[in-house]
Amino acid sequence: MLDKTNYFDLDPVDPCLVRLSEDDRPLRAALLRGWRLRCPNCGTGRMMEGFLKVRAACPLCHEAFYHHRDDEGPALVTILMIGHLMAPLFLYGFLSPRPDAFLLAMVFCAGTAALSLFLLPRWKGMMVARQWSRRMHGFGGNSDDDGQPR
Ligand SMILES: [Zn+2]
Repeated sequence: MLDKTNYFDLDPVDPCLVRLSEDDRPLRAALLRGWRLRCPNCGTGRMMEGFLKVRAACPLCHEAFYHHRDDEGPALVTILMIGHLMAPLFLYGFLSPRPDAFLLAMVFCAGTAALSLFLLPRWKGMMVARQWSRRMHGFGGNSDDDGQPR
């Protein structure tokens, strides 16, 4: 029987394994808060300091964010998503309505740039929120910080 007062319980089959008895950091809520660029812990503090710079900690609940590691992940996801969305639309626009080539190129360049600027910080917020929710990279209290500034 799991002890509900403690977040961690030992596995009865393998006592070396520690499992969570309840999810105190639900992934879905954290991802939605990350999409809104809010703190995954409280949901109200702003996660970003600038366009893409993540704050060291939440200004309201003081949850630390400096553990995050996303590197090129948000940019890669943004490129993949926009490429898979815009390439078929560009082909459809080129084959079916057949507008002027310059007009088509300008519309798709502006649309791609605008969509990239909209999605990139949101993907970054979701990646930081996922790391927080799954207790990755020091978010769970275990330090795997190598001392390198992020
Ligand atoms: Zn917060």
